Amino acid sequence: MRSFWESQTWSESDVVIIGGGLIGMQTALELASKRPGERVMVLERGLIPSGASTRNAGFACIGSLSEVAADIDLLGRDAALDIVQMRFDGLNGLRSTCEGYDIGYLHHGGNEIFLEDHPSLERIVEINDLLSEVTGTTTFQLRSDLISAFGFADRVRHLVHSPIEGSLDSGKLVDVLWSKAQRAGVRIRTGAQVLGIEETSGGVNLTLRAGADEHLVKAGSAVIATNAWIPDLVKDHEASRIVPARGQILVTEPLAAMPLKGTYHFDEGYVYFRPVGNRILLGGARNLAFEEEQTTSHDITDLIQGALEALLREVIAPSQSNVSIDHRWSGTMAFSPSKHPIVERVSPHVVVAFGCNGMGVALSSSIAKRITEVLKY
Ligand SMILES: Cc1cc2nc3c(=O)[nH]c(=O)nc-3n(C[C@H](O)[C@H](O)[C@H](O)COP(=O)(O)OP(=O)(O)OC[C@H]3O[C@@H](n4cnc5c(N)ncnc54)[C@H](O)[C@@H]3O)c2cc1C
Repeated sequence: MRSFWESQTWSESDVVIIGGGLIGMQTALELASKRPGERVMVLERGLIPSGASTRNAGFACIGSLSEVAADIDLLGRDAALDIVQMRFDGLNGLRSTCEGYDIGYLHHGGNEIFLEDHPSLERIVEINDLLSEVTGTTTFQLRSDLISAFGFADRVRHLVHSPIEGSLDSGKLVDVLWSKAQRAGVRIRTGAQVLGIEETSGGVNLTLRAGADEHLVKAGSAVIATNAWIPDLVKDHEASRIVPARGQILVTEPLAAMPLKGTYHFDEGYVYFRPVGNRILLGGARNLAFEEEQTTSHDITDLIQGALEALLREVIAPSQSNVSIDHRWSGTMAFSPSKHPIVERVSPHVVVAFGCNGMGVALSSSIAKRITEVLKY
């Protein structure tokens, strides 16, 4: 039985946000600033966010040349430009939210490396023209002269540099967002897994499990920001067709020398790496086993970790081939059928947000702003 005091502070809110990752926390912050006085509560089933936001690579990126080319082919020029705009605005929004706080942000630019000729290289002028509307600059520059400066193997044939990208410390970022939200009056409850949402005449009832107990929480509205786990709570909607994708990462022990600077993309964005201090973080390669990697399991596999290590030793840092690996982990991305970020009402008092498609550092701030707009009506 809940006490009177517990009922007063815990059982009722104006808005409940389910999921304490980048989307959930930025939505909480948006609501706290746009609708002061409203009771906003975040329910997170983990002790800390347990999906993508604390397990990612920390790239603050808008998409590499080959990724943007693929988006144009898949979605058309207007839709591809729209997504780049959302990523660009989202990064500015995130940085402005965190201004004055240490999120380990470094603006050292991004690079894409190619072992062979690639059709996107022929389209660099066309794509720069399109993107200049968003970035106001030459987004992609062919800079193969940098290949040897970064210490890559001779097999690397082309390098495209972009001055737009940065990187950040994903742990510090989430920590800053959680602390800011709490200071803004948002209540964060961890270890609280929402099991179901039921519409009522004036809002929603949420059933949640916390420890061994089940509880009922009432709210005016609910926002579902549970990324790969959205299908647990949403049925019969595009959101229920979200597919999980495991991303595996490794981090080396400190290296004697660190020639890398900025962020790096390879294999059409499936592989990514960057320096973290004097270590190298390297991740991706799920295209080697698409089906096996369509999972919410946080295990790692020999196939992917082995491929990443081979790439590290043979292509990325051939002069430091005896380096040891210090950390290995995986996290869960979520891919949507349309590739578009989507924020929609799924019932009168419930909004769902998804579609970061592996780029939530960039997109989550724009998505959070859209959520507060959709919640207005
Ligand atoms: C390995 C990896 C590398 C990545 N690298 C980058 C990168 O470099 N740059 C970039 O832009 N993006 C990157 N991403 C993607 C980015 O991290 C995500 O797009 C972003 O973090 C998604 O945020 P989110 O809030 O939607 O989801 P999440 O961070 O997954 O948050 C969802 C939360 O919901 C909680 N939850 C789930 N079900 C329930 C429930 N029923 N009740 C309560 N809580 C629940 C989960 O525990 C989780 O904490 C990467 C992702 C991975 C996995």
